[in-house]
Amino acid sequence: MSISISSNFDAGNIEVIDIKDSNNIQLKIEKDTKSDFLQWFYFRMQGGKDQACKLNIINAGDAAYPEGWENYQVRASYDREIWFQIPTDYKDGVLSMEFTPDYDSVYIAYFAPFSYEQHLNLVNSAQQSPLCKLESIGETIQGRPIDFLRIGDGDNTKKKLWVIARQHPGESMAEWFMLGLISRILDEEDSSSVSLLKKANLYLIPNMNIDGSILGNLRVNANGINLNREWANPNIENSPEVYYAKQKMREIGMDFNLDVHGDEGLPYVFISGIEGIPSFDKK
Ligand SMILES: [Zn+2]
Repeated sequence: MSISISSNFDAGNIEVIDIKDSNNIQLKIEKDTKSDFLQWFYFRMQGGKDQACKLNIINAGDAAYPEGWENYQVRASYDREIWFQIPTDYKDGVLSMEFTPDYDSVYIAYFAPFSYEQHLNLVNSAQQSPLCKLESIGETIQGRPIDFLRIGDGDNTKKKLWVIARQHPGESMAEWFMLGLISRILDEEDSSSVSLLKKANLYLIPNMNIDGSILGNLRVNANGINLNREWANPNIENSPEVYYAKQKMREIGMDFNLDVHGDEGLPYVFISGIEGIPSFDKK
């Protein structure tokens, strides 16, 4: 069977340049919507069972963070539930991976994807907890609801803790983080969560950039806007995700905010502080 590659699905991103020789398949990552950023890719390869394949991403050197390709392992899956890693080689701007698929259909991605369907499952199942309410705070550019979860009893005297994730859609691990956080916070058997909710309410936006996630972007939304740089002056036309989030934050108030990202290179979890904010002081 001859090999084919497709990416016309949720978060898909790849351009096929040359696929004639399975030992030298040439691919390019497509640029983000209305933007020059690129790094996220996600595609399906078919017809390669038991064939030694070599895939080359020939524009990897143009990625937003090429240093991320050093010792990088690509993610692959046959069922899109279990993701395994394949080593890559990065040389002269080309990212190469060699492997022999066990099945005819295999998915390959930059990091383990967290799809829109998974997002909807996450927020809709969360609302079934008596501790949690699901709301939409507004619409994205492409008309999708921006899902927002309130967790706790809403008592105004308690601390108000915000956690937002995935302003950068290619950092899919940020939404995997939210999946873990939400299931732990809503676990009524978990004594840490129970004592936290005695002192605080949580306000969560599990995916700040739904459109960008579906479009297969690394950094931007459907209008090519890097949401992380919009907080000073967001507007409904270009950055509704930030505009509505900020409006909600003002309405509810905030004692603490965690903005969850993922790093291309660093294999560990870290917290970057708020020292750069003009109003930062000892308080
Ligand atoms: Zn980020």
